[in-house]
Amino acid sequence: MINSTTLKIPKKYQPMIEFVDVECSTCDNTPVYWIYLNPGFCFGYSGWHLCNGLTQTEISDILSSIQPCNCEECCEVIRK
Ligand SMILES: [Zn+2]
Repeated sequence: MINSTTLKIPKKYQPMIEFVDVECSTCDNTPVYWIYLNPGFCFGYSGWHLCNGLTQTEISDILSSIQPCNCEECCEVIRK
């Protein structure tokens, strides 16, 4: 896992995450954190492989929804 932010990622989620990035929102300059998951995982509530949040609390909440994913895209990458 590559984490270029100051966010704290609990150890148990680290193997599921490819990288954590931060970018400033263009409208009000608020930092927005982006979480990109490794193939084989997605966020439970959206089924997506990336997600963003504004605070450590929000990110912790998002992380707790990570679940195994066996969509076509993940299977393709894992097969290679
Ligand atoms: Zn997937």
